[in-house]
Amino acid sequence: MNSPDTDTNTPAPAPTCSAKGCRDAAVWVLAWNNPTLHTPERRKTWLACEEHREHLSQFLGVRGFLKDVVKLDEWVQPEGSERP
Ligand SMILES: [Zn+2]
Repeated sequence: MNSPDTDTNTPAPAPTCSAKGCRDAAVWVLAWNNPTLHTPERRKTWLACEEHREHLSQFLGVRGFLKDVVKLDEWVQPEGSERP
């Protein structure tokens, strides 16, 4: 089970920015939670390119939803969070 070649998930295409109309490669993961919709430990994630990180985190930040901004290559999907 620990073989690095064994992956039950199909390889995902290169992740792209979640900003509307943007197709740049994602560099950042924005983890957020809407307390009126989600349990506190739940994390929704948006992806952002370098250019849209500020815009997207502000959008979430003013609503009080933003929890974390992490580099995509350092992001670890929390246990029990939603599947894509
Ligand atoms: Zn973008």
